[in-house]
Amino acid sequence: MENILRRRTVLTAGALTAAVAATEAAFAPAAGAAAGPADVVFTDGYVYTVDAADSVHQALAVSGGRIVYVGTTEGASRYVGKGTKVVNLGGRMLMPGLHDGHLHEMSGGKGLLDCDLKYAALTVEEFRTTIQEYLDKTAEKEPDGWVSVVNWYQQAIRPAGTKLTKADLDVLDTKRPIIVQSSDGHTVLVNSRALELAGITSATKNPPDGVIEHDAEGRPTGILQDGAGNLVDAKIPRPTRAENLKIARTALAALAAQGVTTFMDAIATEDALRAFTTLAEQGRLTARAHFAHLVEVTDTDPVPELSRLRRTYDGGRIKPRPGVAVRNAKLFMDGVLQHPAQTASLLEPYLVHKHKHWVPGKKMGEQYWEPAKLNAVVRKIAAAGFDPHIHAIGDRAVRIALDAYAGLRRAGNRTVRPAIAHAELVDPADIPRFAKLNVTAAMGFHWAKPAPDSVESVKPYLGTRRWANYEPEGDILRAGGRISLGSDWPVDPLDEWGAIRTVITRTAAPDSPYAEQGAMTPHQRLSRAAAIRAVTFNGAYQLRQEAYTGSLEAGKFADLIVLDRNVMKVPAEQIAQTEVLLTMVGGKVVHGTTEFD
Ligand SMILES: [Zn+2]
Repeated sequence: MENILRRRTVLTAGALTAAVAATEAAFAPAAGAAAGPADVVFTDGYVYTVDAADSVHQALAVSGGRIVYVGTTEGASRYVGKGTKVVNLGGRMLMPGLHDGHLHEMSGGKGLLDCDLKYAALTVEEFRTTIQEYLDKTAEKEPDGWVSVVNWYQQAIRPAGTKLTKADLDVLDTKRPIIVQSSDGHTVLVNSRALELAGITSATKNPPDGVIEHDAEGRPTGILQDGAGNLVDAKIPRPTRAENLKIARTALAALAAQGVTTFMDAIATEDALRAFTTLAEQGRLTARAHFAHLVEVTDTDPVPELSRLRRTYDGGRIKPRPGVAVRNAKLFMDGVLQHPAQTASLLEPYLVHKHKHWVPGKKMGEQYWEPAKLNAVVRKIAAAGFDPHIHAIGDRAVRIALDAYAGLRRAGNRTVRPAIAHAELVDPADIPRFAKLNVTAAMGFHWAKPAPDSVESVKPYLGTRRWANYEPEGDILRAGGRISLGSDWPVDPLDEWGAIRTVITRTAAPDSPYAEQGAMTPHQRLSRAAAIRAVTFNGAYQLRQEAYTGSLEAGKFADLIVLDRNVMKVPAEQIAQTEVLLTMVGGKVVHGTTEFD
């Protein structure tokens, strides 16, 4: 990048003029930007740049979708011309847009359009009322339109111990088939109409990977566990192209409101690629969209399919105007740590409770790839120019993934940008390897706090020694490694500022029953500066665009956000409530407004 800038400085007189104006801030001028009046000039702000020194300035000018100046308000005045929009920030914080290195925007967007129970602790009455209200709002879909209800926190239904059945749905005023998905992804509840359409009767046998629950008389209760849910799922019509476009636009609006200007879909379907490519062509794409297609364990040569998707959908060279990028490939090394699933692959067994003691049991988790097979596939993917993105949660899975990446480096591949998604449990011996092998850890900051999913369903099963290595953001960072944010929306809610707060405090929200436990493994906390760098520059690096986004420097694209508070200065707890007043991508406003009150 530096070289490109230098060459431009020499070649164009206009850039030279800009260079003079920018010297006080010691910044190079914008590549390709004309000197003279800018399109927008932000003044009198707290401009947090995430440059190499995390420097803070007052003002920033944007021209042709790029940043042409960062420095003082006085210095920026040289960029103000007749047509320039001048925005007085009034001291507000302006920073680079967020980069989310791992999420699932199509299921997230669909969830926003579905009936959303929001992971809430509902009474049976509230459960019914929420669904009935949604039915009334979408009455035009009677009598046959499927009703999808999402984010049902079944363990939290009140009073405690309540078990819902199809009867709780059959009383609703509708003829439509209803499917309610639990937030943990293991259970669905359906009504009688859905059972009927799926052909599930007392006589239906359990599939090999799931359970159809029956009552005392042998009738299906409407509760379907794991693979049994697919019997119903298979009957739901796939979204049409128009519906996929609506889902994609809904997701983009939600992301823009959070300040996300770049994201990566961590299991990209062709439906998603088609929808986002259409939006890009229509000029309606409001974030830089990266897609990692899933490589199945059975797939020994994924390169032809990955290459076809890249040929068909990749938008080519990055430009200020956001586009679609197909440069990543996703692999699953293991499952999750949480009891009772315990499918994350460990170096030593999960503990079990026996005679009042926690002792090693038999479970070691699942290991989806044979190391030799993984190494071979990762080599093929990388040689074809794709960056591997491996889901690895247990310490053994993380080690095997790092081994595969070590193989790439040993073979002389210096350019590949490998990532490990989640990295929830890392053996101390493997911590330094993130830096040594230049592997980005795309981590779910939401998990770094006391909650049922951590201190209850993970901690006792790992024991004290391994618990110190759970969500090891601090350790990876101290060893020189790079951490990015992978929110995993909608596995977790889309709440980037809550996630940033959590990785800084490692505490539960103040209104949570877990708040009194204080900080979870406080030695793994990130500083604010490290957390902000993770969600901006490091995400840009993971996705090979740090020369263009991730920090506010002259020559880079104007992907930036303005906040209602200064997240470097407010009490850390208040970071969670941050509101994004303005989101700009490639110099274009995609959320909020430049008129602040
Ligand atoms: Zn994911």
